[in-house]
Amino acid sequence: MILQVGGVGICGSDIGMLEGPHRHPALPGVIFGHEFAGKIVEIGPEVKNLKVGQKVAVDQNPGCGKCYMCRNGFSNGCLRLFDNPLAPEKGWPYTPGQWWDGGLARYVRLPAHYCYEIDNSVPMTHVAVFEPLGVVVNAMNKVRPQVGEICVVMGGGPVGLFATALLKAGGASKIIASEIRPKRRELLKKCGADIVIDPKESDLTQIVMDNSKGFGAQVIIEATGSQLPAALDAVSFGGRIAQIGIPSATIDFKPFQIYVKEVQIIGVFLMKHAMNDTIRILGSNLLPLDTIITHVLPLEKVNEGIEIARQGEGGKIIITPNEL
Ligand SMILES: [Zn+2]
Ligand SMILES: [Zn+2]
Repeated sequence: MILQVGGVGICGSDIGMLEGPHRHPALPGVIFGHEFAGKIVEIGPEVKNLKVGQKVAVDQNPGCGKCYMCRNGFSNGCLRLFDNPLAPEKGWPYTPGQWWDGGLARYVRLPAHYCYEIDNSVPMTHVAVFEPLGVVVNAMNKVRPQVGEICVVMGGGPVGLFATALLKAGGASKIIASEIRPKRRELLKKCGADIVIDPKESDLTQIVMDNSKGFGAQVIIEATGSQLPAALDAVSFGGRIAQIGIPSATIDFKPFQIYVKEVQIIGVFLMKHAMNDTIRILGSNLLPLDTIITHVLPLEKVNEGIEIARQGEGGKIIITPNEL
C-alpha cells in the first residue's frame, strides 16, 4: 500500500546509522525514517482489513505470523524478518529506513501487514511515536511494575521519558531518574520523576538506598545500554531490571548480585505483542506526549531535527512531511 506520511520520529538508531556502520548498520543511499505514521492513499486488491483514508500506525518490524519463531510467540525473532540479505551479520531485521526506503518522504510504499488502524482523532505526531512507545509498553508488560513500588529510570531519552510517564501513571510511589544532559533531566521531572540526578555528580545507588530505607528499587528501567552494573547495585532483593537500552559494548558486572538478590534481568526487544495496548494508550490521555515530543519540524528541516537529536537537546523529535 502507499501511505501519505504524516509524522516520522527521529530515533537514536538513526543517529547511530549516520555515525558509521559499526554502531548501527544501514544500506548507503536508503531513505531514512523507520518510526512513521500516515494515511492510506492507495491499497492493493487483496487488503481487506484497511481502507483508503484510514490513519495507520506502523510497526516497522512485523513478524510474518507463520514461521517457527512467530508460531512460538516470538514475532520479534521472526525468521523471515531477520533473513536480511543486506545485513553484515545476523541480528538486524529487514527494517524500512535502514535497508529499504523508509518514511522520511511525502509518500512511502510498504506491505499492509506493517500497518495498524488507529482512530482518526489521534494526532499524527502522537501516532508517530507508536513504535518507540510500544517497545516501552512491551517492557512494562514484562517487568510488571506494581502500585507503590520504587522505580528507577536510567536515561532520559524518549524511551526513558515514556517509561517514566508510564510508571507514574501506573502508581509508582517514587521514581528516581538519572540522566547526564540538563534538558533531559527537566523533561524527566515533567514526566513525573520525583528525584532526578546527574550520575556524574551524584551516586545513584546511594540516593536509591537513602530513599528506600536501604532496600533498593523494585523496578529498574535501563534505557542507556551501558548501566547494567549500576542497576545491579541499586536493585532490591527480588527486583526486576528491564534491559531496554541497546547495549553496544561488553561490560563487567557482578553476577553474584543476580544470584544473592534473586534479581530478574529482562531483555526487551522491539514491540513484540504490545501493539494493541499501545494503540489504546495513544487513544487515551494517559501520557504527557506533547511534553515528550519537544520538536515538530517540516521535512525541509530534517537535518536540524537530526542535529537536535544528536546533541540530546530534546525529547522526541517528529518530522511532518505532510500536515495530516
Ligand atoms: Zn527507532
Ligand atoms: Zn515469522
